[in-house]
Amino acid sequence: MSRFWSDITARLAPYVPGEQPEDELFLKLNTNENPYPPSPNVNSAVGNFSISELSLYPDPDSTILIKALSTRFNVSQEYIFVGNGSDEVLAHTFVGLLRQQRPLRFPDISYGFYSVWADLFDVDRKLIPLRDDFSILVDDYLDVDAPVIIANPNAPTGLALELNDVERLVAGNPDSVIVIDEAYIDYGGESALPLVAKYENLLVVQTFSKSRALAGMRVGYAIGQPPLIHALKRIKNSFNSYPVDTFSQITAVASLSDEDYFRECCDRVCESRESLIKGLVNIGFDVLPSKANFVFAAHPDISGVSLYSELYKRNILVRYWDMPRLQNHVRITVGSESQCQLLLSGLEDIVA
Ligand code: PMP
Repeated sequence: MSRFWSDITARLAPYVPGEQPEDELFLKLNTNENPYPPSPNVNSAVGNFSISELSLYPDPDSTILIKALSTRFNVSQEYIFVGNGSDEVLAHTFVGLLRQQRPLRFPDISYGFYSVWADLFDVDRKLIPLRDDFSILVDDYLDVDAPVIIANPNAPTGLALELNDVERLVAGNPDSVIVIDEAYIDYGGESALPLVAKYENLLVVQTFSKSRALAGMRVGYAIGQPPLIHALKRIKNSFNSYPVDTFSQITAVASLSDEDYFRECCDRVCESRESLIKGLVNIGFDVLPSKANFVFAAHPDISGVSLYSELYKRNILVRYWDMPRLQNHVRITVGSESQCQLLLSGLEDIVA
């Protein structure tokens, strides 16, 4: 606290990102990164990159990236917005679309940044409790016409809504924007992208950070009908005209040019996830069925914070939450097969 702080700075409770230790000693299973490198096409694009391009500002409209996304998702370019990670895209949706008369709704257990943005941008919100089994019940969001943001699959639970439920949510709130945050959609969930042409109030947000292994590049995007995209562009051009740097655009485009590699890596992660879940259940954990690249697991006798610290001693990082309903939970990123094995042997040791 300092007398130089604005009132906004003083009242914030900033988001705390997962640790990114310099030390390569750690097995990082805490921030849902991809255990595999980006596509070899990204490697070639980086090799062919001429640093003289860096003396110029990037294209403020990110045209090459928007074109590549337009081809990949078969939507026209005016349906697409890109930003510096989906975090930035989502932050713009809070200011540009979700700050309305009626309070924004989102689950009480979800991506922690939603509350942080609501505080920062003074967005009135109403938290809707998850059901006892940690699921989202769409009917809880249909009583009044209000804006909604939902992560699908949800984080940190990994549970996914089916497409018909997402459609009920969107159709049930026709005069409000519904944002579906699909950061983890490529690991088995059903994307709401096919609904975008039909519903003017739907915005789907995705990222290159997880399934495309480009977390270090910070590229995210939103797909929705032009009036929603136009709102995001107005906010972007009132904040930072060049959010996606030249290098990031080139690597993201290269990644989109290799769908086979992308699918193969996603499939490998999904396979490892299923064997990890079995391994965890075998040593006494309760694990939610996940459609993401992480699992949400609880041991009946060991707190989340103890699991975290015992794993930390063994150079393995996971995440835990200091929330009443999540006392015994940890969220574990699905690593490669060998990383999952290391985690399981660490946990076997701790449980014993
Ligand atoms: N949404 C969810 C649910 C997430 O977990 C994350 C990653 N922390 C993001 C969005 C943001 O991802 P990025 O900014 O890397 O695109």
